[in-house]
Amino acid sequence: MPKVAQTAGREQLGDFAPMFAALNDDVLFGEVWSDDALTLKMRSALTITTLVAKGLVDASFEYHIQTAKRNGITAPEMAAMLTHVAFYVGWPNAWAAFRVAVKVYADDPQGLSEPEAHGGVFGLGQPNDAYAQYFTGKSYLNPLTDPGKTQFVANVTFEPGCRNHWHIHHADEGGGQILLVTDGCGWYQEWGKEAQALKPGDCVTIPANVKHWHGAAKDSWMSHVAFEACGMNMSNEWCEPVSDEDYLKL
Ligand code: MN
Repeated sequence: MPKVAQTAGREQLGDFAPMFAALNDDVLFGEVWSDDALTLKMRSALTITTLVAKGLVDASFEYHIQTAKRNGITAPEMAAMLTHVAFYVGWPNAWAAFRVAVKVYADDPQGLSEPEAHGGVFGLGQPNDAYAQYFTGKSYLNPLTDPGKTQFVANVTFEPGCRNHWHIHHADEGGGQILLVTDGCGWYQEWGKEAQALKPGDCVTIPANVKHWHGAAKDSWMSHVAFEACGMNMSNEWCEPVSDEDYLKL
């Protein structure tokens, strides 16, 4: 079962060039685009780069920019990509590509309408409705273990601007929480301290009984795997939201 279902070949050329249509839909998209050796996001980046290099910024280019957005390339990433390739492919080619990219990203530059493009390697999961009251903005939860059988480990994804309220992981002994950042950029802050920027590969060890919050950056999605360290008499206390004033200063 191909990951990428494509019908454009048969729709546009099925009568005139059935062989080309079949190769386009079944091989290029059905097999090559669907192959797990590269992520869809990386395939989009390669395709965009190649088309810009050839100066092919026609209707199919707009389709590929839309696909790139759906495959998780954010507006800042697209801007950085085209700026990077401009030095290699030629300034006018990048200008022409930017005109299309600006149009495609205009209505939703942060990809809020494409949550399934985010979540990173551990997946987006479902809207985190059970904890929505403790979050500003929208978050998603993907449970990775069965808490009935073992320790609960989950992937949490924050949309741009989303963060949880100040909170405390209480424990009499041991305890605290560990965050493994897997995708995007965000922030972690302990009460009375400067916020620290988070990027993929970061590991945050949150001590028990320390008031803190974690969440995405203003212009980036962020995913982290979270679990609580073992301890005695553990409980969570939710406090006030992180004010816009404090958050927007970051
Ligand atoms: Mn926490």
